[in-house]
Amino acid sequence: MSNVQTAQGVNPQVMTELRLLLIEPDDAAATALVALLEGATAKQIQTTVAKTLIQALACLHDQSVDAIIAELHLPDSTPEASLKQLVASAPHTPVVVLVNGDDDAFALELLKLGAQDSLVRGRADGALALKTLRYAIERKESDQHLTYLSHYDRLTGLANRELFRDRLHQAMTRAERSGQVIALLFLDLDRFKAVNDTLGHLAGDELLIEVAGRLKKSVRRSDTIARLGGDEFTVILEGLEDPLDAEVVCTKILKSLSEPVLIRNQEIYVTTSIGVTFFPADDVDINGLLRNADAAMYRAKEEGRNRYNLFTADINARAVNRMAIESALRHALERQEFHLCYQPKVCVQTGLVLGAEALIRWDNPQRGLVSPVEFIPVAEDTGLIVQIGEWVLRRACADMRKWHAAGFEHVSVAVNLSARQFRHGELVSAVAKILADTGISPRQLELEITESLLMDDTEASQLALRALKALGTSIYLDDFGTGYSSLAYLKKFPLDGLKIDRSFINDLPGDTDGEAITSAILALSKALRLGVVAEGVETRDQLNFLRDAGCQVVQGYLFSRPLVFSDFLGWLQRTGPR
Ligand code: C2E
Ligand code: MG
Ligand code: MG
Repeated sequence: MSNVQTAQGVNPQVMTELRLLLIEPDDAAATALVALLEGATAKQIQTTVAKTLIQALACLHDQSVDAIIAELHLPDSTPEASLKQLVASAPHTPVVVLVNGDDDAFALELLKLGAQDSLVRGRADGALALKTLRYAIERKESDQHLTYLSHYDRLTGLANRELFRDRLHQAMTRAERSGQVIALLFLDLDRFKAVNDTLGHLAGDELLIEVAGRLKKSVRRSDTIARLGGDEFTVILEGLEDPLDAEVVCTKILKSLSEPVLIRNQEIYVTTSIGVTFFPADDVDINGLLRNADAAMYRAKEEGRNRYNLFTADINARAVNRMAIESALRHALERQEFHLCYQPKVCVQTGLVLGAEALIRWDNPQRGLVSPVEFIPVAEDTGLIVQIGEWVLRRACADMRKWHAAGFEHVSVAVNLSARQFRHGELVSAVAKILADTGISPRQLELEITESLLMDDTEASQLALRALKALGTSIYLDDFGTGYSSLAYLKKFPLDGLKIDRSFINDLPGDTDGEAITSAILALSKALRLGVVAEGVETRDQLNFLRDAGCQVVQGYLFSRPLVFSDFLGWLQRTGPR
């Protein structure tokens, strides 16, 4: 296909030889025109002459030409019909029409019908005629280039969103007629952002191109692959005998991506999560199918990435719930539906309160109390976490100010931060401003981060961590032991301490693994001079074990559940020292 070649710049048309179809019923006129053209150039011109429309169409069927010069008054058709048929049979070939000098209106009409240009009989010399032909060819190519650009993704050459929708629509129409099944695959690369952030956009682009190539190899040529944008791809599988065939393709895609990609001498491993939905079983319109496939893909991510997932009614229910949470969440801040609870952190040796962890609560009039486990991930995905996170920081510091004023000056506050807040870029200045506004010493603000942040390992998050450290806040690694828990993180990042995840504390005492892990984390922190907080302490036995193992700080229901501000203050007044 010449348009594809042009668009990729692989094979720009070089006119060493011009292949022409000349449509001219008059022999003498044809000979004269050929002589005129040949006289004007040293290059070879290869001309085929047709005397009727039928002959011309037969010629176009048999061979391809660079341009058509046409006298449209033909014995077997009207000028308008002839032109239309020529354009339809050779949509990529420019047609230059021969007209009489006094017939401007006719020439214009033909241009509207798809002719590229006109030559006035008898008035054109060879040079002008050639130039006209060349321009016509160039114009046609750039028109096609534009059409190409509006249908294809520039980076990968795959179909773009518009063409994808068009193809899906056509496929649905065909499937309705034939009663066959279509599978729509929605792919999103796993951790693509990390590649982009660490290796740069050019490397990211290379990776996308490579992925596009591997996708092409994993499906039939007739299947449509599209890039919807970013790292999102779709595949339309048509004419499936058995829906199971779609799973075979998914497996093939996952396998083809499992080979590392070599970019600048670096082996990069990329995986993808795939959601699959079927037409007509799951939905009968394009947007519905896209939503389904997206929800199924999302579920594949939740289940651990690098896998595919078929859309089910259950996924639908979850997606609907998620969307409802998302829209309610958008108004939650302005409607003041959030509040903070505080859970004390207690010194094992003295029983004194050292600080409190701020835990967000969302009380929505329709949904009631929504767990942060449910809405924080939605807030992260939508970016709302940035504003919500700032609100938490400000409120926690303002509250801390109040308990300081009530005489508990040594009680610090710990605030949970999401990785997404670090990516935003304004975290550090926001923290600095909040500290200044509330008059809180940075030493009394602890920030709890998760391993996913360290795993992202982007320059931006590293810089932010160091800047927060430089501000004077302390940084704790939350839920330690549940993620990848690479020891390298502990050395690489400026951490002040760890929080042992409550799943390990749960197993204490008595469970050998739980005991071994907890003791190991405590020994490790001691060696690295890191502070440790054990969270989720519910029983005396757990406390005793932790004390004996050398743990200094604990947090959990044994001391207190998370309390609203006034209850927390009351609790301090009853139990805490002045
Ligand atoms: P997390 O930071 O690990 O918080 C500790 C969670 O353990 C809290 O759940 C707390 O209520 C619960 N917990 C404390 N002691 C005990 C205990 O003795 N037994 C049991 N079974 N559970 C205990 P919560 O409040 O539901 O928060 C869940 C998670 O949501 C938090 O885990 C944190 O990751 C996230 N989160 C909460 N507030 C925020 C926030 O303001 N920002 C961000 N980014 N995340 C937050
Ligand atoms: Mg926490
Ligand atoms: Mg935790």
